[in-house]
Amino acid sequence: MSRSLVAVGDRWSLLILGAAFQGCVRFVDWSDRIGIASNVLSGRLRQLVALGCLEMVQGDDGRGHEYRLTSMGMGLYPTALMFWRFDRLWSEKRLLHPEALTHLTCGGSMVPNMACGACGERVHARDVGYEDGPGAGFDASPPSRVSRRSAVAVDDDVSRNTLFGDSVDYLGDRWTQMVISTLFLGTRRFDQIQRECDVATNLLSDRLKSMVAGGMLQRRRYQIGPDRFEYLLTPRGMDVYPIALALMRWGDQWLGTAAGPPLLLHHLTCGNPLEAVVVCDQCGQSPDPHEVLFRR
Ligand SMILES: [Zn+2]
Ligand SMILES: [Zn+2]
Repeated sequence: MSRSLVAVGDRWSLLILGAAFQGCVRFVDWSDRIGIASNVLSGRLRQLVALGCLEMVQGDDGRGHEYRLTSMGMGLYPTALMFWRFDRLWSEKRLLHPEALTHLTCGGSMVPNMACGACGERVHARDVGYEDGPGAGFDASPPSRVSRRSAVAVDDDVSRNTLFGDSVDYLGDRWTQMVISTLFLGTRRFDQIQRECDVATNLLSDRLKSMVAGGMLQRRRYQIGPDRFEYLLTPRGMDVYPIALALMRWGDQWLGTAAGPPLLLHHLTCGNPLEAVVVCDQCGQSPDPHEVLFRR
């Protein structure tokens, strides 16, 4: 998953992609919709083109170029839907401004879910087993830069206008995602998390503190004198799991190495290797971005 996070685990990149799934193709579309500064937007668009998620093409009407999603970019649609789902369930702002996704294929008001491709059941973190894959080991490209969250106040409407929603403000940070993934794999103690993520102590304390404040984690003392703490995922933190799975799957598909996937997953419920698929809760089909309508 860390590969995916290095590539697109950044608030703006995610918001740009989210808006692309909703039809943004020109520079001006993004600046109107997500209120991003021009220099930041051109930088991120360049990165997304270099990565292979967007391609620059000449517009049909002679009005300059457009950015279109490639197959690799489209591959992030399940991740966007899982962000939307998380946001719908847990964001207080969403409760005040309800919105819906209509799946045109079945006509239903859709809540996308993560399901097992083999048995069709919903996938929960506790029902997944892990083993090292052929490409296991430390990734050659861990998050290299310390990503600081933007100090600029964000217009409330900005993130709610895209599929990624406000959750992207705290989940669109690759360290936060890395820490949560480590917890999914069973790590709890500060020093273990630090070793697994290979992150500076102060940076880790800062992220853990904000995740506790944000209701994602619960801190529990397991030793007195000296005091030592462990971190447990709350139900809300647990619900990040489908996002993590979607990102991991995309990373294996598009950023994998010849060695093969670093981690193999199996669905304990049915015993099959886990092929996690995002499906419409009404009809069970995998939604295509052209067949989903977003309504405020
Ligand atoms: Zn299954
Ligand atoms: Zn459907």
